[in-house]
Amino acid sequence: MLDLIVVGAGFAGVYAVHKFRRLGFSVHAFEAGDDVGGTWYWNRYPGCRCDIESIYYSYQFDDDLQQEWEWSERYASQPEILSYIRHVADRFDLRRHIQFNTRVTAARFQEASADAPSHWTVTTDDGQTHRARFCVMASGVLSTPSLPDIPGRDSFAGESYHTGQWPHQGVDFRGLKVAVIGTGSSGIQSIPLIAEQAAHVTVFQRTPNYAVPASNRPLDPHELREVKFRYREIRAASKKGFTALPFKPAGRSALAVSDAEREEVYERWWRNYGLAFQGAFADLLFSEDANRTASDFVRGKIRELVDDEEVADLLTPDFPLGCRRMCVDTDYYPTYNRDNVTLVDIRREPIDGIVPEGVRVGETVHAVDAIVFATGYDAITGALLAVDLRGRDGLSLEEKWAEGPRAYLGLATQGFPNLFMVNGPGSPSVLINMVTGIEQHVDWIADCLVHVRDRGLDAIEAKAREEEDWAAHNDEVAQQSIRGNCASWYTGANIPGKPGGFMPYVGGFPTYAEHCERVVENGYRGFDLT
Ligand code: NAP
Repeated sequence: MLDLIVVGAGFAGVYAVHKFRRLGFSVHAFEAGDDVGGTWYWNRYPGCRCDIESIYYSYQFDDDLQQEWEWSERYASQPEILSYIRHVADRFDLRRHIQFNTRVTAARFQEASADAPSHWTVTTDDGQTHRARFCVMASGVLSTPSLPDIPGRDSFAGESYHTGQWPHQGVDFRGLKVAVIGTGSSGIQSIPLIAEQAAHVTVFQRTPNYAVPASNRPLDPHELREVKFRYREIRAASKKGFTALPFKPAGRSALAVSDAEREEVYERWWRNYGLAFQGAFADLLFSEDANRTASDFVRGKIRELVDDEEVADLLTPDFPLGCRRMCVDTDYYPTYNRDNVTLVDIRREPIDGIVPEGVRVGETVHAVDAIVFATGYDAITGALLAVDLRGRDGLSLEEKWAEGPRAYLGLATQGFPNLFMVNGPGSPSVLINMVTGIEQHVDWIADCLVHVRDRGLDAIEAKAREEEDWAAHNDEVAQQSIRGNCASWYTGANIPGKPGGFMPYVGGFPTYAEHCERVVENGYRGFDLT
């Protein structure tokens, strides 16, 4: 029997395999794709790139690795991130512990018996079963694409694509009329590039989003050298940063400065800082009045950038900036000034169906040759629930989470001993630099496994009371932020029938990491060790 099975070989799974192996555990990972990369393996749509700067969106566990890797752009493109994670897998000789083209379909907890300790039986889609004492779900938080159930979807005569399952050979849109459904980050990144290539693009927008410029550029070798020289210091500062990035929090309220000063700050942040725009003042995510100043600034920018007033109005969000995930773009708004781009508002009049010729809204059929679904993901819990996970007494995770997910620190859930999640619901995950969050989670799990091994214990399981307390704390901090009141994929609102509740932990990385450390200092408080 193995010590550990890891599900997934994205950033989390790759680091988990490396870390657990170095600690002497026998480990085997399963990955549905034919290579490492996870999200960055599947998302190959035009314009796909990270919205966190590459020098931060990278591993820090090995100094030689971070010294030798050369990022070419401020925001790395998908191919570059994929090359990086492939390099990591090769450099640390991890591939021989990863079984590719294999999807985990089920995992069942087995109580300790006279013959065997507590363990998990894991079933894969090739019909094989595997046994391991522990199971680590590194299955990703934005890895289960959501394809809306639009009537007639399968009747479409042309090709259709989901941004999260993009063909590896790419798509040639030259000369084609293309529909793009969805205007979240994936739509906002891909629309300008598809519009450059296609004969015509019709964008179907239900909810407009805020997008701030990426201000992407090649990284100057001197700048990179300087970062590398200070990497240790930068990484240490990141761990103190709310979003696990090394930026000092803005000390001031947006309401404490003059209009002219506020405008100057917003202009500077708009031009330079991408996603961090929402942190230009300390209270943008906590006070509606403060937030309105930033939201109005971006709304003004949309009016400046888009020539047609009616189109600009449609592109202007009416909810507070940052409430839903903000987008980072390159040339998104000016794309609507092109003659070959049409915006269709499907909030007022929804898509009625897909027909062989294209997309039907009311009586109008928008005839297209290809449809791009930029319609997002069953986020955070989707990949966990896609596996038939069964804990004590055959309880399924689906049953356990019928009213909404519950996971102590986002790491483990009561009733499912010896099962850990990386970036589970209740951890900061998507609200912070994901790679730093992943390393913190994997390190915590690894320390925990060593603790269990060194003491000859059989199992570790979250306790119900602490799990509930953590969920209550999670709700409380979400309500203190403007984010708590918006329907979004953070709350599961994008998936019909998904139970509500704010899933990621809003309290910031340092506070979260401190909670995790305190649990350990107090003898794994909140866990049963047997
Ligand atoms: P998303 O933000 O969930 O956007 C999905 C879009 O599809 C929304 O505009 C949504 O409209 C629309 N949609 C969904 N179902 C629909 C339906 N039945 N009919 C019409 N429209 C529908 O998904 P995403 O753009 O893939 O991004 C997800 C997350 O992935 C991002 O927020 C970000 O965290 C991450 N991401 C990051 C990057 C990056 O690093 N730069 C790039 C891509 C993605 P509604 O809003 O009205 O539901």
